[in-house]
Amino acid sequence: MKYYSLAGQAPVTDFRTATLQGQAPDKGLYFPSRIPVWGKGFLDSLPRLPADEMALQVMRPYVGDCIPESELHRIVHETLDFPIPLNEVCSGISCLELFHGPTLAFKDVGARFMSRCLGWFSRDNDRRTVVLVATSGDTGGAVAHGFHNVPGIEVVILYPSGKVSPVQEKQLTTLQGNINALEVSGDFDDCQRLVKTAFADADLRAKVALSSANSINVARWLPQQLYYLLSWQQWPHRPDPPVISVPSGNFGNLCAGMMAWKSGLPVAHFIAACNANDTVPRYLQGGGYHPGRAVATHSNAMDVANPSNFVRILELLGGDATACRTIMSACSMSDADTVDTIRRVHREHGYRLDPHGAVGLLALQRWIDDHPKDKGYFLGTAHPVKFPDCVETATGEPVPVPESVRQVLEGVKVSVPIPADYGALHAFLEKMG
Ligand SMILES: *Cc1c(COP(=O)(O)O)cnc(C)c1O
Repeated sequence: MKYYSLAGQAPVTDFRTATLQGQAPDKGLYFPSRIPVWGKGFLDSLPRLPADEMALQVMRPYVGDCIPESELHRIVHETLDFPIPLNEVCSGISCLELFHGPTLAFKDVGARFMSRCLGWFSRDNDRRTVVLVATSGDTGGAVAHGFHNVPGIEVVILYPSGKVSPVQEKQLTTLQGNINALEVSGDFDDCQRLVKTAFADADLRAKVALSSANSINVARWLPQQLYYLLSWQQWPHRPDPPVISVPSGNFGNLCAGMMAWKSGLPVAHFIAACNANDTVPRYLQGGGYHPGRAVATHSNAMDVANPSNFVRILELLGGDATACRTIMSACSMSDADTVDTIRRVHREHGYRLDPHGAVGLLALQRWIDDHPKDKGYFLGTAHPVKFPDCVETATGEPVPVPESVRQVLEGVKVSVPIPADYGALHAFLEKMG
């Protein structure tokens, strides 16, 4: 498989180079030169395929000969090494629970796959690889956990000070060792801008082997399609295809699902469930693409004004808002709707949502209200314990704390505060070369 840059000014490359570079040298996102189409044999056997066998078949064309088959098998096995159940929440609506991994959010899947690929690619480097990543909350913990103690790799995480939850902050500041947490006085868009500036800094990159672990990295983005297949295996209404509601921020998760759909996975419709950060909903309604500033909400992992993966969706769908509207729609939920949904679903169905899942469920519910014959699921992207304040306010009772989280909360936070300007980041990174 070859990968090209969506900015159109960089050489075509393979999976290994695309993973190591993260972003293409022309600042574009890498995109696969073709999307594999699964044969009927694969689709028919899919409901009975063991998870790692399925994952190997889906990922192999994307990885090509950059990783030997036996190694890729080990990687996908470790990537899916926790339960991903599809549970019915209420009539016609299920939740694909992606929060049973080490940091209780779906980003564990992509982070685990990517860290193991990068570990393999760096195995006999004499220079250490510096993984640089901006997080709005969950990426940091998943990446920190995925890469902790991987030899030859140093991780630098930028997170917006005061804008991530206590569990999230502890997950990315307590591991230490090869994990460095930079606490930025600014918001997620500032963090993302600093990271982009570093990647575009040729002088710095000559001294430091930089790699990205954001959802733009193909090794993080592509394996996210695997759980859409796992959900199809569990979908009780086969052969009718589901409507899938994806709580969206940077749109990597949704775009991965669309890749699986392009390859042949049955999907009736995708819903991009957004919070008040509604750049894409406004675009699909015909209002043009006008990202503003990010707004802080209860579903803070989706507080993104200018979603970096949206260009990939446009590429995949061949172009414009009209092309998008047949397979996807997008909607925006307020914080009041979010809290109300958590309260109502807990009261009526005894199911405890997190704020991101709540946005996903409500978007799906509204769709089904308009299309009563449809059934679907939303992605449960995080465990409610990661957002205790909002969930406790809504349900009126404390969120039970899993043992793994209790241990994380007792850890000691170590972070390096920096201002939201590139000079400070540059100085920090230069020392790592
Ligand atoms: C990252 C994240 C999202 C948004 O996913 P994108 O791929 O950025 O759209 C949604 N919910 C949670 C809990 C997240 O951590």
